[in-house]
Amino acid sequence: MKHNRRKFILTSSLIGGTILAGGLNTSSFAKSINIIKKNSNMKLTFKPYTLELKHVFTLATSSRTTTPVMLTQIEYDGTIGYGEASMPPYLGESHETASRFLSKVDLSQFKDPFEVENILEYVDSIDPLNPAAKASVDIALHDIVGKLIGKPWYKIWGFDKDKTPFTSFTIGIDTSEVVKQKVKEADEYKVLKVKLGRDTDKEMIETIRSVTDKPLVVDVNQGWKDKFFALDMINWLNERNVKMVEQPMPKEMIEDMAWLTEKSPLPTFGDESVQRIPDVIKAYGVYSGINIKLMKCTGLREAHKMMTLAKSLGMQVMLGCMTETSCGISAVSQLSPGIQWADLDGALLISNDPFEGTKVIDGKVVLTDDPGIGISKVLSH
Ligand code: MG
Repeated sequence: MKHNRRKFILTSSLIGGTILAGGLNTSSFAKSINIIKKNSNMKLTFKPYTLELKHVFTLATSSRTTTPVMLTQIEYDGTIGYGEASMPPYLGESHETASRFLSKVDLSQFKDPFEVENILEYVDSIDPLNPAAKASVDIALHDIVGKLIGKPWYKIWGFDKDKTPFTSFTIGIDTSEVVKQKVKEADEYKVLKVKLGRDTDKEMIETIRSVTDKPLVVDVNQGWKDKFFALDMINWLNERNVKMVEQPMPKEMIEDMAWLTEKSPLPTFGDESVQRIPDVIKAYGVYSGINIKLMKCTGLREAHKMMTLAKSLGMQVMLGCMTETSCGISAVSQLSPGIQWADLDGALLISNDPFEGTKVIDGKVVLTDDPGIGISKVLSH
């Protein structure tokens, strides 16, 4: 401590001396600042990884068989925290953008991982975009902080592990025979999620209804462009045991969406419309609820704040995910005892998950008691 203080005084006088001598040498100035700030050995590392999907994943606008992710680690004092950025191509992030962003993150300037607010404000300030890359730092940081405290985050936040919700399981758009097969394979899930937003929507629901009467939730991914059509569809779905509708209309159609929510017999949820905290306020009065995803909102710190804000506004909250490893899913599921709607099937849809953590058992989200984000084992991928 004494040594550091002396070093600080010495450095300060050197900078001062340079200025007095008539010109600031910028490189020695930067070097001096570096000496003052470098006071921890907290280190971020990252490596690209590609998730293999069990089925071709089809949305209203695209299909794919893999998802690029970036796996991160923060190491501090012999403890390692794990994180992940999942980057479906349509959201604009990639291995290249995440690498570029993460290369700029210098955690050595912070004293220790407990400076969560300072660290994540700094990470957010590096660039206005890159939400998934930011989430990969946030998740690893939460993991290491929980490990240093010796508790999982659901406990740190004060949630009851027994109150985790059932998760929906997504049945992607496909041929009638494949859809029926997928529904059979999804036997253990209590709620199925169906992707709509094409002109075959009613056939898709009728195909599923020919094999099961389980409750359904639907995600239109902005696919319905007319509010009267959307309301007719929702009324039709309401008669077929559908429980809620996610992002029925394009995110720009705010007034039409508010009209639809007011008339709709089912709760509506904003997903593409809701990325970060300010979007929660914008969604108030437009949707019944919001879909929070770590990869959109930069991680657990902001997700927890968004959840608190939405609930205080009387809105419903859903937790969603991309196709992710058990790292991202275990992280977000730490919040799940606090919400009604979970769509946390991301790790179940991939065949090369390098982590173990939160499980889905008989359709219910089951948290581990391991500290941090609840990852108990890292497989050798
Ligand atoms: Mg969605």
